[in-house]
Amino acid sequence: MLIIKGIAASPNIAIGPAFVVEDEEIVINQLEIPKNKIRMEIQRFKRALEKTNRDLDRTEHRALKTLGKAHAKLIETHRLILSDPLITKEVLRRIQSERVNAEFALSEALEAVNQAFEKIEDEFFRERRHDVFDVGKRLLSHLMRRGKKPLSAVEVPSIVVAHNLLPSDTLQLKDARALGFATDLGGKSSHTAILAQSLELPAVVGLSDVSQRLKTGDTLIVDGEQGLIILYPTPEVIEKYVQMQAQLQLQDKALENLKGLEAVTRDGKSIQLMTNLDAPEELKSIAALNTDGIGLFRTEYLFSNRTTPPSEKEQHEAYFRVFKTMAPKPVVFRTADIGGDRITDLGFEEHSSESNPFMGLRGIRLFLHYPELFKVQLRAILKTAPQGDVRILLPMISSIEELISSKKILKSTMDELAQEGVPPVKKVELGIMVEIPSVAMALDTFLDDVDFISIGTNDLIQYLLAVDRLNENVAYLYDPFHPAVVRTLHQIVETAHSKEKPVGICGEMPSDPKTTKLLVGLGVDSLSVTPRMFLRIKRNLRSLSFQEATKAVKQALLLTDSASIRKLLIT
Ligand code: PEP
Ligand code: MG
Repeated sequence: MLIIKGIAASPNIAIGPAFVVEDEEIVINQLEIPKNKIRMEIQRFKRALEKTNRDLDRTEHRALKTLGKAHAKLIETHRLILSDPLITKEVLRRIQSERVNAEFALSEALEAVNQAFEKIEDEFFRERRHDVFDVGKRLLSHLMRRGKKPLSAVEVPSIVVAHNLLPSDTLQLKDARALGFATDLGGKSSHTAILAQSLELPAVVGLSDVSQRLKTGDTLIVDGEQGLIILYPTPEVIEKYVQMQAQLQLQDKALENLKGLEAVTRDGKSIQLMTNLDAPEELKSIAALNTDGIGLFRTEYLFSNRTTPPSEKEQHEAYFRVFKTMAPKPVVFRTADIGGDRITDLGFEEHSSESNPFMGLRGIRLFLHYPELFKVQLRAILKTAPQGDVRILLPMISSIEELISSKKILKSTMDELAQEGVPPVKKVELGIMVEIPSVAMALDTFLDDVDFISIGTNDLIQYLLAVDRLNENVAYLYDPFHPAVVRTLHQIVETAHSKEKPVGICGEMPSDPKTTKLLVGLGVDSLSVTPRMFLRIKRNLRSLSFQEATKAVKQALLLTDSASIRKLLIT
């Protein structure tokens, strides 16, 4: 038996056989292209060539800026490879005469080039074959797009074990009969972890090399409570965990009697307690929880696992279902936060060359770059609830200009709808996520232009502490009780309240029962938590005194280290 400690990403326990996902295995099948589709196949290859050339332009530009001319010259080599007839002409010839798919023709051409290189005696030139592969891989990725869907091969209920899982992979896990998952990479607030909680899949991430240690069929236990996995467990240990599973179920049941009760502290301070909505599967259980509404509707799931964006009609139907289920309670529609670790198959070429995607074209930045996409989403949201109260939340705002541009687009979308005779929405509230330090620091300059704010703790902590939320190596530094985090949160609440703007908080922090006292004491008006933790947080809230929490936070603000703050605030 072997116990490996990782990071608890999603609670509960899974016991079962492993399904090990082979990492980055590229399977290229030979397909026969019908005669009338040959032209299209050739165009497809040419488009991939163009995209790869554009990748090279961007890389060259970056290399020139950061490394200088000598390094940028390397890109010239890549460009030469890309225009080499052995690749371009040969691939086109094969598609045309042998009627094979572009991927297959390319992989054959690359193999031929590789063999030619292997015969070269001069080591320097022989090693240039890596450049050929580099270029080949770029080309292939443009041709194939990501998503070989290895997860569809999970046939018996299993625990998925992988080097890494993307959020879009995670969305498929429920259908893929997964019991839970364990990955080498990842952090607690990665979108993969967030979705695991939404789908109620126990998960442990950041396990360094677990995917190398197991083979499909080996038994393991995922302990999402303690953040560890057990390989080859003994029958006694399995029995212990089966009992633990039953106990956890009992604990959940005991919380059920809180469903109809108000989210109010012992001394009568009401706090709006809402849930996040990350995947459509959650809606039913959220409705059964009797919450105060949806505080964060992460609409980006609608854009996942597809190659074309959802139409206005499709989005409208999805939003209407949520709105109707929750009415008359509020739903905060966050416009899609695509980018970062939520890369889609929609083919945004900017994303293929980002070396730092969390600081890249993400959230509102992407939508201001592609305003048509933004408009379609706004139309779908605005049409959803002409009679009700619509709340729109903008992710990843970092400057006032972005907010003003977004407001202009919102206004023109509303005018457009009015011209089309769509009944006007009675009331639209607009909010921004406060998740980038620039906004937290200069919040007063944004407040006149918004109706509410929502603190996105996942990103705010990541950017404030410079700790990548996906990186298990620095996960120990990701600390919601860091004095800088506590002070920043305090500053945000004070500034917003001085202008009478309500403050919500979302992200994973409020779902951690250890933080309830801190957030209540800071004076946050509403918490949006994961459905799974909703009743536990309500229990916490109801056992707290607002006055005592406020006093404790005042003291905490004077402390200089996380351990002392935790001691004071964790009950
Ligand atoms: C956050 O950053 O806290 C947040 C809620 O947004 P997301 O986790 O979707 O980036
Ligand atoms: Mg965020």
